[in-house]
Amino acid sequence: MTLPRRPAFIPHVIDGAEVESLDGGRFDNVNPWTRQPEAEVALGTPADADRAIDAARRAFDDGPWPRMGFAERGKLLHRLADLIDGRADELAQADTTDMGKPIDDMRTKEVPRSAYNLRFFADHARLSTGDVYPMDSGHHAYALFQPAGVVAAISPWNFPLMLETWKVAPALAWGNTVVLKPAEDTPASATLLARLALEAGLPPGVLNVVHGFGPNAPGQALTESAKVDRITFTGASDTGRIISRAASTNLVPCSLELGGKGANIVFADADLDHAVDWSIKAIFSNAGQVCLAGSRLYVERPIYDAFVERFVARAEALRIGDPMEPGTQVGPLASLEHFKKVSSYLETLEGGDGRVVTGGIGDGWVVRPTVVVNVDTKSPVYREEIFGPVVVVLPFASEAEAVALANDTRYGLNAMLFTRDLSRAHRVAAGLRAGTVWVNCFFIRDLRAPFGGAGESGVGREGGNFSREFFTEPKAVVMEVAAAPAADATEPLQGHTVRLGRRTI
Ligand code: ADP
Repeated sequence: MTLPRRPAFIPHVIDGAEVESLDGGRFDNVNPWTRQPEAEVALGTPADADRAIDAARRAFDDGPWPRMGFAERGKLLHRLADLIDGRADELAQADTTDMGKPIDDMRTKEVPRSAYNLRFFADHARLSTGDVYPMDSGHHAYALFQPAGVVAAISPWNFPLMLETWKVAPALAWGNTVVLKPAEDTPASATLLARLALEAGLPPGVLNVVHGFGPNAPGQALTESAKVDRITFTGASDTGRIISRAASTNLVPCSLELGGKGANIVFADADLDHAVDWSIKAIFSNAGQVCLAGSRLYVERPIYDAFVERFVARAEALRIGDPMEPGTQVGPLASLEHFKKVSSYLETLEGGDGRVVTGGIGDGWVVRPTVVVNVDTKSPVYREEIFGPVVVVLPFASEAEAVALANDTRYGLNAMLFTRDLSRAHRVAAGLRAGTVWVNCFFIRDLRAPFGGAGESGVGREGGNFSREFFTEPKAVVMEVAAAPAADATEPLQGHTVRLGRRTI
């Protein structure tokens, strides 16, 4: 199938219009497989971020979006989801060209999930119920969830469209307006998303996209603006720290989804093939550029040799190549800068921090699926988030040791465990410090469940009601329930306290 031609210029989308930067600045968008520039992108400045914030502010303060009913907003978000499905090839091509992920993953997983994010949050908001608090004093309280205002969404390059929609969908469904700043390496799908939102009928200014970098650029400007009401960020832990500090100036609530160094524990009683299968996906999908990656693999001693043998054979069988080719499983890393960072970790292994069983640097900006054993547990390869296709494998002797090893990290995003022992599964899941624990699986999500990290992996949770609480300003309404005239006094209903005449019960 021939894919549509890529546009030569990727503009901002502000107040319903596709625009250049105010100063006309542009930067190159480089394809990490061909290592050639594919397009020019509007290089936003803080002034462009301000323009986008002002447009979102007007759309919130004076526009119809926050004043619409949930059903009407939901209809437009469903229409946007349908348009995403209809333009799946173009969107798949956009992210694959920008960051080198296999096109199969975009077509079969990420584009469908992006559309689903919009459908899910539209429906969740519409069907959401609130809490009511009958009070002993003869009053009655309830919670109203009203939109927070202007949301700044700052997203990363590893799952561009999927994470953009993960932020934008709940923000919009709850009636906010948005300024989205996609990562500088992956601008194309965000502009397409904003274009489709207009086509779906979202009013101008409701979803704005501004391109450019973080420090001293649109990213920072969004986090320092007093006109922004919420900041949702996914990215590196160090960037999260900077954003949190900037947001504190105006006391703007932030939701931070940060890095990880996921532990994957395989017990001797696990279904070996099943565990190998998921463990391969957990570290080599998206070339390991996944905050949730299972990058520390702990295998119980009795099956250690058998597991490693099968795991290495599977890692070596992964098809590396042009991410645009169907069938490719591992593409290049997303950028030269990132390739250099991941390569520098492999260089430390030459100094004796561990033994590489398979993998290493490939052609271009490719790092081959890399398995490291006998690793020094004080080394950077073991302790730091590499964000590449590099896994360290260690044996363990007992459940207690496995949990202690898994928790010995400053991160706490997620962990996995493989066992057939039900009690152990629950015990270990409860003992792991992690925002998500997967038992006998990986990456499966119910969008109602909390998502986020402990420790340096983040602040706050999103998903279902957790997203509602973040993207709204929950308001308590407390009413007096006036006493009925004595002649009309009724018996109290079970579970409520009402006034009978002048007597409070
Ligand atoms: P990575 O290190 O994986 O590239 P980053 O955390 O640097 O991830 O980037 C994630 C997103 O955060 C990108 O959209 C980037 O432009 C943005 N960003 C980076 N630095 C800042 C900053 N100081 N303020 C706001 N946004 C930033």
